[in-house]
Amino acid sequence: MENRAEVLIDLGAIRENIKYLMAKSGKPALAVVKADGYGHGLLPVAKSALSAGASWLGVALLEEAKALRQGGINAPIIAWLTPVTDDFASAISEDIDIAIPSLAHLEAITSAARSLGKCARVHLEVDTGMSRGGALNEWSELVSSAKAYQDSGLIKVIGIWSHFARADEAGHEFNNKQLENFKSAVAEAKSVGITPEVIHLSNSAAAINDADSHFDLLRLGIAIYGLSPDFSHMGSSEKLNLKPAMSIRARIHLVKDIPAGSQVGYGGSAITKVDTKLGVIAMGYSDGIPRNANSSAGVLVGNKRAPIIGRVSMDQFVVDLGRDSSAKAGDWAYIIGSNPSDSYTSASSYTADSWASASATINYEIVTRIAARVKRIYQG
Ligand SMILES: *Cc1c(COP(=O)(O)O)cnc(C)c1O
Repeated sequence: MENRAEVLIDLGAIRENIKYLMAKSGKPALAVVKADGYGHGLLPVAKSALSAGASWLGVALLEEAKALRQGGINAPIIAWLTPVTDDFASAISEDIDIAIPSLAHLEAITSAARSLGKCARVHLEVDTGMSRGGALNEWSELVSSAKAYQDSGLIKVIGIWSHFARADEAGHEFNNKQLENFKSAVAEAKSVGITPEVIHLSNSAAAINDADSHFDLLRLGIAIYGLSPDFSHMGSSEKLNLKPAMSIRARIHLVKDIPAGSQVGYGGSAITKVDTKLGVIAMGYSDGIPRNANSSAGVLVGNKRAPIIGRVSMDQFVVDLGRDSSAKAGDWAYIIGSNPSDSYTSASSYTADSWASASATINYEIVTRIAARVKRIYQG
């Protein structure tokens, strides 16, 4: 059966982006593959990233780390969003590195290590100003307890790390403040005798904007997928020399002529201004198309843009093809990107950034929200 919609993933683009970012910084890379590889597919992205030279993988959840191990990946993996109730024993037995943001986590992980009789590999996480993950007031106690547990053989502190809140705003003084806080937290850990293998702080934006924050390892997420960490502060993928890896296409379900003055879709939120041809696209908000996307987003059919008209429905949305369109039912409509065999200019295709701006969000949300029921097709 032909697919009614497809997410096309260019794995070659992911490899190129990683090679480019590593060459630019000269530092090793941890490829962030959480949330199903930002919607691009956990295992295919992880394998491509490692083949392009990334030496580490990073995920949020233990389940994600375990799926990587089950998929045959032996590279070091860090999981950094692990509630204290998680099954740390199985993580330790599978050599999954665990982030430690609090004394409570340290206790849970060391008790799992004790019952398993195996040393846990951990990365101490300090809150340097984002007020989300990591230890703040507990930091001194965390490093001294960690040192004691390390001496008793229950853990090995592999890394110390933190996360930026505003790395996309190059030169913002808050970044310096976080960097200074980070350096003193690392110094404090070293002063009690902790000597981590890897100190890591940079996400994609800091990897691109701020060489002073690179330390031993870059945690690269959005940029390996070829997307800009922040369109408004840092510009487009193209400007950053990144190649978007994801295209999305869906079939045109129906094409029909509609007279001027017709309401389109639920709530009649749009009315045709002139006689025109509308196309019904076989994807909707249950597939991850934002319901609130406005007419600055749409699809590319052949060479021509067709903007959204009316509200996006659960399984479908309507575009204005224009009166003279030769589009027909069954044609592909490109929601992101374009058909490589059409003669097109990349400027005319819709991007994750154009969908983000049409629905008041960020490209990260556009690519991660595409539902599992949309088939992924791998190329390159
Ligand atoms: C998601 C994440 C990253 C990657 O961020 P990007 O902005 O996508 O590069 C890095 N580190 C941590 C802790 C993260 O959660």
